[in-house]
Amino acid sequence: MPVYQMQRLLLSSHSKDRRIYSESLHQRSLAMSSSSSSSSSAAQTDAETLRLKRINSSKLYLHVIPSKVPIIYSSYYDISFLGIEKLHPFDSSKWGRICRFLISEGYLDKNSIVEPLEATTDDLLVVHTEAYLNSLKNSVNVAMITEVPPIAILPNCLVQTKVLYPLRRQVGGTILAAKLAKDRGWAFNVGGGFHHCCSGRGGGFCAFADISLCIHFAFVRLNISRVMIVDLDAHQGNGHEMDFADDGRVYILDMYNHEIYPFDMTARSYIKQKVEVATGTTTDEYLKELDKALEVARGNFAPELVVYNAGTDILDGDPLGGLKVSPDGVVQRDEKVFRFAREGNIPLVMVASGGYMKTSARVIADSIINLSKKGLIDIAGR
Ligand SMILES: [Zn+2]
Repeated sequence: MPVYQMQRLLLSSHSKDRRIYSESLHQRSLAMSSSSSSSSSAAQTDAETLRLKRINSSKLYLHVIPSKVPIIYSSYYDISFLGIEKLHPFDSSKWGRICRFLISEGYLDKNSIVEPLEATTDDLLVVHTEAYLNSLKNSVNVAMITEVPPIAILPNCLVQTKVLYPLRRQVGGTILAAKLAKDRGWAFNVGGGFHHCCSGRGGGFCAFADISLCIHFAFVRLNISRVMIVDLDAHQGNGHEMDFADDGRVYILDMYNHEIYPFDMTARSYIKQKVEVATGTTTDEYLKELDKALEVARGNFAPELVVYNAGTDILDGDPLGGLKVSPDGVVQRDEKVFRFAREGNIPLVMVASGGYMKTSARVIADSIINLSKKGLIDIAGR
């Protein structure tokens, strides 16, 4: 076990945290006792040193002037060329539309939005394997990950600039969001939430593991050692679950429709708090389950950062989510999570994640407006 993790174990005062740390320590010590343990632990130390170096030399934690609000977006986020955006049921311009609603209705000044940098290859290697990143140089692989078959026949240079570059900007946004959340109490990356991607595998439109990256940066640059992921996208978040499989620093509350993609049973076994809902679950049932789940989570773990994956594919009518939550139900859901964080005085990162209908952008904008009206966020700017 690396020294810094041991220090965190000793510093942790929360009894249930200690239990999770002990389990993690036990698992790690079992792994260490296997054959070739000395060479593998040396390799682990080298990998950890390289990871720290990459995180500390990253430019993604840029300085944000006080007049900006912690809403992160770049026009580079939106994917649209040659009509490929129409080939996936995903509204790939929803990120820009969310901001345009807020700006045109006078809730947000466009000059107060924070523009993130692109996550570089070195940034991505903090979590991803080189082999995985190299696999994205093959358009066929990108087509499978994004579920847009025609991408397979495009030259990879086009795929890099028109598909992967926007996603890398969104990853930069999610990573930066943790820094802003620590400074301001909350931050919303109007993009990201690629929760099906882990270090060595993409899928379900998710090419980069932005949530895992965000958390690793926060561990090192923000001196945070306990993170709660609240994943309320309709799908199971198997990417971050694989990445933090035996990591006691991360508590995962995942509420998802268990009858749809990804059916990842291995990842499921790593969820600390699993709430499975069935196809057809209605608004009232959903919100009742969420109230119970947040109460349990509050008792189980004391996070220093909440990462909220706020997919809107729980909306009634979504072609992939299978749930029947109303637009107002989504607004109430987001308010509950923000209140949960506010009551515990915990910085909160929100990412947009899935949501496959044209109406998703409107609902997300309405939710931001509601949070502002309820005094849970301040987007007025200075
Ligand atoms: Zn989803």
